[in-house]
Amino acid sequence: MRLTMSTVFAKFSTSLTLKIFSICFVSTHVPLLALVIYLFNGFRSEAMPVLILVLAATLVGTAFCLISVWALIKPLNDVAGVVEAYRSSGAVRSVRSRRKDEVGIVSNGISVLITELDATLSQLRRQATTDVLTGLGNRRWLKDIGALEIARAARERTPISVVVFDLDHFKSINDEFGHDVGDQVLMMAGATIQHNLRPYDIAARIGGEEFCLILPRTDMDAAIGIADRLRTQFESKVVGPLPAQRVTASFGVYRGDPASETLKSMLMAADRKLYSAKDGGRNAVHWEVSRSIRDANRMRA
Ligand code: GH3
Ligand code: MG
Ligand code: MG
Repeated sequence: MRLTMSTVFAKFSTSLTLKIFSICFVSTHVPLLALVIYLFNGFRSEAMPVLILVLAATLVGTAFCLISVWALIKPLNDVAGVVEAYRSSGAVRSVRSRRKDEVGIVSNGISVLITELDATLSQLRRQATTDVLTGLGNRRWLKDIGALEIARAARERTPISVVVFDLDHFKSINDEFGHDVGDQVLMMAGATIQHNLRPYDIAARIGGEEFCLILPRTDMDAAIGIADRLRTQFESKVVGPLPAQRVTASFGVYRGDPASETLKSMLMAADRKLYSAKDGGRNAVHWEVSRSIRDANRMRA
């Protein structure tokens, strides 16, 4: 293989070993080089000036070594900052080194991997918390975020209501018109719910044809209004071959007391009202206010 300047340079730019070797070689030879130049130029060869020269040249060699090694590992230092920022706060920063040696490859690789890891984790988190058919959150997501909302409502002393609703006679839609039409109804329900929510409301599909809303900063009247709006919208939708008014739902609404109740107890209370709406003939909204809120209102009146 012919050794041209460009192949030597290419080899040098991609090899960390060659760079380290060059730095070591140059920095250890600075004193010798200085001495040769000094003596070659006919300067005095007494011990003292030579000693001072060698000492000064050693210092120069050491400084050269330090600066060169620092420049060599600088990309690693940058990428260490990127790793630390991601580990401590989840912040995704990226660095880009133009170096082609192992340090450049490792630094760029780690930076790219962190960006890709974060995108994949976000996607997995979204998939783990989203219901594919309706695009709403799922039960697991509702539990996490609902508990946070209740804690916030307790802290800020703001009202919070939950709504649980279930499509009526959904099994017979599947049986008469097929599972695909059933799925279309669920998709329509998801889109209708999303369209009617305020940005801070929380909606999830918590069962086959059962949904839940958590409505922060929402008292009983407002929550009933939202539930009834959804009820009339479902009723007005025509999905595929289904006759008009075939899709209806029954709703249970509960205004909870965030200071004394958990998400679980609020959902159970809303569920009881949902079953009372089913028993009452379906396509209806039944509601209840938490006993402690009722007592407090009575005391105030
Ligand atoms: P009710 O008015 O009392 O709620 O009656 P219902 O028929 O709606 O209730 P039931 O619990 O008997 O039936 C629910 C049906 O929902 C049964 C199940 O096959 C169907 N289902 C659950 N998940 C899906 C789904 O993802 N797609 C479709 N198409 N159907 C589903
Ligand atoms: Mg049902
Ligand atoms: Mg059901």
